[in-house]
Amino acid sequence: MNDILPPQSAHWEWLEERLRALMRRYGYRNMRTPIVEPTALFVRGLGEVTDIVEKEMYSFEDRLNGEQLTLRPENTAGVVRAAVENSLLYDGGKRLYYMGPMFRHERPQRGRYRQFHQFGAEALGFAGPDVDAELIVMACDLWAELGLDGIALEINSLGQPAERLAHRQALIAYLESHADLLDEDAKRRLHSNPLRILDTKNPAMQDMVNQAPRLMDHLGGESLAHFERLRALLDAQGIGYRINPRLVRGMDYYNLSVFEFVTTQLGSQGTVCAGGRYDGLLEQIGGKAAPAVGWALGVERILELLKEQGRLPEAPVPDAYAVIPDASAMPAVLPVLRALRSAGVSVLMHTGSAEGMGSMKSQFKKADASGARYALIFGADELAQGMVAVKPLRSGTTGVPEQTLLPCADSLQWAERLR
Ligand code: ATP
Ligand code: MG
Repeated sequence: MNDILPPQSAHWEWLEERLRALMRRYGYRNMRTPIVEPTALFVRGLGEVTDIVEKEMYSFEDRLNGEQLTLRPENTAGVVRAAVENSLLYDGGKRLYYMGPMFRHERPQRGRYRQFHQFGAEALGFAGPDVDAELIVMACDLWAELGLDGIALEINSLGQPAERLAHRQALIAYLESHADLLDEDAKRRLHSNPLRILDTKNPAMQDMVNQAPRLMDHLGGESLAHFERLRALLDAQGIGYRINPRLVRGMDYYNLSVFEFVTTQLGSQGTVCAGGRYDGLLEQIGGKAAPAVGWALGVERILELLKEQGRLPEAPVPDAYAVIPDASAMPAVLPVLRALRSAGVSVLMHTGSAEGMGSMKSQFKKADASGARYALIFGADELAQGMVAVKPLRSGTTGVPEQTLLPCADSLQWAERLR
């Protein structure tokens, strides 16, 4: 679990703002749900034989009432629970998003942490592949806006539970006939969750799973039509993708469309965003049946990729630094700085020690180190005339190109020249 400190925290804020703006453009609205939920929500929602529920959850008993609780390992279940409890779908489908910390007890490594952050978008109450396409395109817009490249889209269809059952039987028979090739994990999953074996990262099993019966060949007409319509909508928008018949996803709640955005630039933690349709989940956790689809992206992985591709913004700098030769000037200085800030100018004030404000030289050194574009010099002579000297500290400052005396009382008039 990491501390997120300045200056990197500025990258987080920058990315969060981009994400919020994207959601506004697509009409998705913010949901904030608790970080702690009843353990049963995840066991029921995600499925008992998933990696997360089997070994990654931080679960504990509430000492006061014995309730079983879990730090959320993901937030689709939480969003759905909140939507059900608050009857959010009473007047139709809802487009929602969330962001925040998730918790999984995994082996920490690059791109994999025990507290990590997801940003997720969920569309509840919509059945059509049009909304699947909307979500996928929305993510593609994000990559473009962030200037990221090298992110590939993989899609698949998991069909419906009955179709998966037919495939499951064929798959188990096939895997049993190759029992000598199965590793421990696969043997354990053979009867509980054989589909997940297809997702194995064990190189020794790759050839065998490549030849396994395909779920796609067991899909009925309606499932295939949903998939074809999604493909047509992606094609129509020029979105490239690869059909990956082995893409199965880690939670049991998915059906029909599933997708992942992957990059080869982050080592083995290459999935930056993943999602799919989960039409059964609302009913599963006690709501009225309603279709749904969504994705979640890993904020740390996106930031890492931005860094890798040199797309992180410069650290933000203040517009101005207030140089104050004598502490006795403070009563006159503070109202000017406050007025400038009210006009949107960011001003860093030089603060003194018990001994005094320090030499002009040391104040200018600090001003320079702050990255500010202007120094505001509140010298005794300037203040005696009700003025402040504004001095550019960087080349190319057009608002005030050379040192200029400006009236303190009219700071709101010239504030915008500093921005
Ligand atoms: P992985 O296969 O990498 O374990 P996952 O299938 O468990 O991913 P999801 O539960 O679908 O991941 O979560 C969506 C996204 O959240 C992932 O694509 C990834 O970007 C991010 N993510 C998941 N687990 C972690 C983690 N432990 N640390 C950092 N990011 C994570
Ligand atoms: Mg995982």
